[in-house]
Amino acid sequence: MRLLPVLDSTRASAHHGAPAGESPGEPGSLGASLWEPESDQVASGTPWERRVYFEVFGCQMNKLDAELMLAALEEEGYRLTSDPRDAGVILYNTCAVREQAENRVFSRIGTLRRLKSKRPDLVIGVLGCSAQNHREAIFDRHPEVGIVCGTGEFLRLPELIQTARRTGRVAALDLSRSPVFTRTRNLGPSPFQAYVSVMRGCDQACTFCVVPRTRGKEVSRPVREIVEETKALVQGGVREITLLGQTVNSYGKRLAKGLAIGLEHVLHELDRIAGLERIRFITSHPRFMRPGLIEAMAGLDKVCEYLHLPVQSGSDDVLKRMLRTYTADHYRRVIVECRERIPGFALATDLIVGFCGETEAEFQETVRLVEEIRFDGAFIFKYSERKGTRAAEMSDDVPEDVKRDRNQILLKLMERIMLECHRERVGAVEEVLVEGPSKLDPKRLTGRSRAHRIVVFPGTVEEGLVGKLVGVKITGATPLVLVGERAGEGR
Ligand code: SAM
Repeated sequence: MRLLPVLDSTRASAHHGAPAGESPGEPGSLGASLWEPESDQVASGTPWERRVYFEVFGCQMNKLDAELMLAALEEEGYRLTSDPRDAGVILYNTCAVREQAENRVFSRIGTLRRLKSKRPDLVIGVLGCSAQNHREAIFDRHPEVGIVCGTGEFLRLPELIQTARRTGRVAALDLSRSPVFTRTRNLGPSPFQAYVSVMRGCDQACTFCVVPRTRGKEVSRPVREIVEETKALVQGGVREITLLGQTVNSYGKRLAKGLAIGLEHVLHELDRIAGLERIRFITSHPRFMRPGLIEAMAGLDKVCEYLHLPVQSGSDDVLKRMLRTYTADHYRRVIVECRERIPGFALATDLIVGFCGETEAEFQETVRLVEEIRFDGAFIFKYSERKGTRAAEMSDDVPEDVKRDRNQILLKLMERIMLECHRERVGAVEEVLVEGPSKLDPKRLTGRSRAHRIVVFPGTVEEGLVGKLVGVKITGATPLVLVGERAGEGR
């Protein structure tokens, strides 16, 4: 039986770039096709206390966690409903990266107070990063909440729901053991695309970032486990996988004594799986872009020529205050090497404007870096102070209107660069994995090129091309989309 839809509540406030990555501002769905409603009748045939309304905020890792949570719930007979008023359980998988996303969840929860007072048996759960971050304090501020469950214990959800019903409140916040899961089928983002976690947690100490606090220490999954899971997914029809990790290219730490295993080893193993067509990985850290990984991207057929490599700032002083552990020149050198070695290489990045003490001159260094590198896509964020981070002890002294202006300047610059980059693709044939109908025009299909560019071309779902690889000759371009004509059959 299929699950019913899960709302993906992520909204982009300052995102720019078709080659989207795992950034917290990225819009997208949890996978319309697989999460498509069979019908709400499925849920209405289920007892009220097992009907679940679920919303997910944030990055791909949150979406994957949500899939795993829902699979655990489904096994225990829970079914999704699209109407919170119809649900016996209301769950939010949260994002703590920026204040705005967090506020949105908590104001949503506030609106449930009346519903909860009318139906005391209703269980409301705050899950994931914000739960891990604010812990039991959530119960004090939101007495309607019955479950606070962090990023380490979410597979216990069915049991936690029962406990909350019995006792009113339960918290599960242990981060010391990372969740062990084996997945035998794909739950998203589509029947032919899947996320595969290769590691959990983060060992970096970036001063702005709350993630190490919400997801704990880095733990890599053994290569064998990743390969087995991918093989099972491919047998179930998956053609493209995206490997997930907070700093995915630091994969392998503490995995095997005396053995240096890196992400490239995983890529080599996965590249051999028959039936798998594309391998992506997000998000990488500039410090771990080692030659072996660049070689793997250059040499392995299935590994796409797309890298999401957050630079955050073009100023060495800002990078130092952020504790990013590299300089702008190091970043430049990595990109020169990637461009030399990897044909068709495409690059997306994350940028933060208005970080503590960012002067106009430091911001201009970022502008110059963007001009120089000419990213294919960028996620641009206004710095948001997060309690518990090292940067929260510094002064968040760049005024909001200055942050907004800097944000706009980079967005405009990226729009121009992306249009120029896209125009260079006109005349080329792109291999597109077709994802479905265009949202704006049902007579057109949309998909992604290997370099993660959105490509739109004439066609309808009835032609049976969704999930297939199709050659598309590019005839036009906008900053976000390539437009083309079919060049050959789908396969
Ligand atoms: N782990 C990745 C890395 O270190 O490069 C990125 C993870 S983070 C969830 C995604 C992006 O959110 C970051 O690259 C950064 O640009 C942005 N971000 C993180 N914390 C932020 C904050 N406090 N304010 C604004 N943007 C933030």
